[in-house]
Amino acid sequence: MLDEALCPAFFLENFMNETRVALSFQSDNLQRFIFDNAEIRGEWVHLHETWQNVISRREYPPAIQNLLGQMMAAAALLAATVKIDGRLVLQIKSSGPVTLMMVECTSQNTLRAFAQWDEDEEIIDNGSLAEITGEGNLAITIEMDGANTPYQGIVSLDGGSVAELLQTYFRQSEQLETQVWLSSNAHCVAGLLIQQLPSADEHNAQDAESWNRISQLSATVKDSELLDLGAGTLLHRLFHEEECRLLSLNTLEFACNCSRERVANTISLLGQQDAMNLVEEKGNIEVACEFCNEHYYFDKNEVVFIFIENSEGSVFNSETVH
Ligand SMILES: [Zn+2]
Repeated sequence: MLDEALCPAFFLENFMNETRVALSFQSDNLQRFIFDNAEIRGEWVHLHETWQNVISRREYPPAIQNLLGQMMAAAALLAATVKIDGRLVLQIKSSGPVTLMMVECTSQNTLRAFAQWDEDEEIIDNGSLAEITGEGNLAITIEMDGANTPYQGIVSLDGGSVAELLQTYFRQSEQLETQVWLSSNAHCVAGLLIQQLPSADEHNAQDAESWNRISQLSATVKDSELLDLGAGTLLHRLFHEEECRLLSLNTLEFACNCSRERVANTISLLGQQDAMNLVEEKGNIEVACEFCNEHYYFDKNEVVFIFIENSEGSVFNSETVH
């Protein structure tokens, strides 16, 4: 009999077929846009399959799933504003019920995400950000390929929403006026961002007036419009009186870079004695990837082999066998 926990690909395919929804536009995209009549740029993101890949791997309470969805849309929007060559990680660390939430977006246009929470605590379905997370921080980490030190920005979790936290971050770190709207449901997640260009002059009356006008138009966006409309339709609906021009479109997808080799390397860090104690106690070492919930198993012989390989200075390398 097929064990679903051991064969997530099989499980996922069935799940995706059941939850596939008819969208009249191409989802899993990030659309950049600009205003020809104002010093303002924008981004729209919509994720369907990427999101289904995240929520089919672990069952989340509704409020946590909703927050994770907003964090995913936020990570995609943020990564596109900084144009990284590497990865951007959005992380909430808090007192609970949610204790840890991580979303990663890479310059290869891949996303992955997970949340951990205290299962003994009650989680209100429509709880506020404060009720779901308690006290803590939102950290924005950017790891550039080839750079030794990552960049990190931190915002205290005392806003009313993830969108407000992002706005605070942009105000503090970039000194750029930014407005963000994020929305999430069981089918998809979506987000809209508008931002003043660095060339905008805060003392210029025309730039200030343009910002007020376009941010007011943007603020009329409804959750249903974010979730159900494609970029062209939504932007036309919001900005048909402006000169809004679509720029590049990026396709995003779920991907996790965990591997049997990486897990073996982690086991080698335990030290031979502790690893052997663990395998003697349980019969094997089981490691689950937090991001994709893939389970890796190492029996006694395989653990012994990790340390033989390690002592010979070569890296454990084996095809994934689940
Ligand atoms: Zn993984």
